[in-house]
Amino acid sequence: MSDQAECGALSPALAQLGEYLDRFSTGLHGDAGLRRRHWQKVLQRPLPVDGIGLDKVLWELGEQVIPNGSAIPLPGFTSFITTGATNAGVLAALAAMVAAPQRIGLTAFQELEELSLDWLVALFRLPAEMKGIYSSGGSTANLLALGAARQQAFERRGHDCGRDGVPAGGRLFATAASHRTIHRAAAVLGLGREAVITVDCDAQGRMCPRALARQIEGVVSAGLVPVAVVANAGTTATGAIDPLAEIAVLTSRFNIWLHVDGAYGLPGILDERVRPRYAGIEQADSVVVDPHKWLGAPVGIGATLVKDRGLLQRAFTQGAADYLEGSFCGADAEQASPSSGFVHSLDALGIPYSDFGVELSAPPRGVVVWALLREIGAQGLAQRIRRHNDMARSLAERVQAHPRLQLLQAPTLSICCFRYQVAGCTDLNRLNRQLHRRLIQDGRSLPSTAVVDGKLALRPCFIGARTDWAQVDDLVQDVIRIGDELWAHSNSRGTSTVDVKGT
Ligand SMILES: *Cc1c(COP(=O)(O)O)cnc(C)c1O
Repeated sequence: MSDQAECGALSPALAQLGEYLDRFSTGLHGDAGLRRRHWQKVLQRPLPVDGIGLDKVLWELGEQVIPNGSAIPLPGFTSFITTGATNAGVLAALAAMVAAPQRIGLTAFQELEELSLDWLVALFRLPAEMKGIYSSGGSTANLLALGAARQQAFERRGHDCGRDGVPAGGRLFATAASHRTIHRAAAVLGLGREAVITVDCDAQGRMCPRALARQIEGVVSAGLVPVAVVANAGTTATGAIDPLAEIAVLTSRFNIWLHVDGAYGLPGILDERVRPRYAGIEQADSVVVDPHKWLGAPVGIGATLVKDRGLLQRAFTQGAADYLEGSFCGADAEQASPSSGFVHSLDALGIPYSDFGVELSAPPRGVVVWALLREIGAQGLAQRIRRHNDMARSLAERVQAHPRLQLLQAPTLSICCFRYQVAGCTDLNRLNRQLHRRLIQDGRSLPSTAVVDGKLALRPCFIGARTDWAQVDDLVQDVIRIGDELWAHSNSRGTSTVDVKGT
């Protein structure tokens, strides 16, 4: 093969790829023999010295790679908080890859970057002055928001962290139910993981405002710098929503940044039955949401929304970049092409997103959110959110109605924590861990686990656009069937799950 990569028409290859992907999505894999780890051997080849050409690459993709992809897009997958993308999201991401490889420049794609962020603000009933930036996901989205918080906290003390670095003494407040990315953000921002102070929760895993007040007072009286309170709108383990209004009273009394991590749960505000729990969110200085979770975008899209985007800029600007001077006019596109009336997409770079975050090269992501919302609208999304919340509630009712199932946490959003239980079993954690392993091996119902009050819970999180009521039925059936089998088996063998711990 020469160095001539195939750069002609894309559509024949796309049609072929589409067939492979549809086969994967509907479970009809071409070469079932490749499954069960054989594919690892097939793929392990030395560096190719000679190329095989595009047609063969496409064939290998379709026959060897795609069939051995992930369980994440399956309807029965309810682990973690992640799901497969909807078609609109896939198509929009692909369109961007070809037609606007970068978010910079005066393109329709950049227009949709800002427009879709504004739509998210409107959709989630946030204050209209909030502006945003996309990044790769909730981890980065939290990092950026907390970078803005750090910038503000120290600017008020006459110090510019973005320019001069980070003095000691900054503190964040979060609960044990907060996502661990908060600790990493604290580390990256130079505060250190140990700067995250753990605030007590109530029995539902919600931040306790009185404990928060005590912790803030302690930090202030020790002469330390309260940087931000991190509240959850939907914790990762159980979907709990912190009492935002009560927390906001404290952040405004002590003049501290209020950050709301809604990576998973912010869309829950579209369900009017849960909406009152979000009261107070309008007082947040920053909010994050992951379009690649409940909105069904392809992975790689998180959004940070802030009241003052200037803080993001002062925290994250690269400073002047001499190597770009003169490359673009940078200012007014009209000026750049005064006569033709045609504005070239690179006559100006547009909104300087690269100065609001940590990425320079980055794909346009707004087009994906735009496509998702154009396809089904706010109404369609609200229906999906309500359906998933209904599914968690209905599962909780069925669990409570069944003698061998036990509800461990009443659902707030679309997560339901429950377990299999049976009289006489003294190590239910072990039994449920075995049960979970069997579920994963069987491959139909794929929840994850969580620990609730020391008890191992099966924890489905319903967020997939393809995940529907059938998956609730499957899950209940699978858990009871496998739980009964495991229990019967351990009794017949006389070993057991019964007295492993003797408690
Ligand atoms: C998923 C999640 C994150 C991390 O988001 P990524 O997109 O996986 O980086 C942060 N916070 C919460 C509450 C989450 O659920």
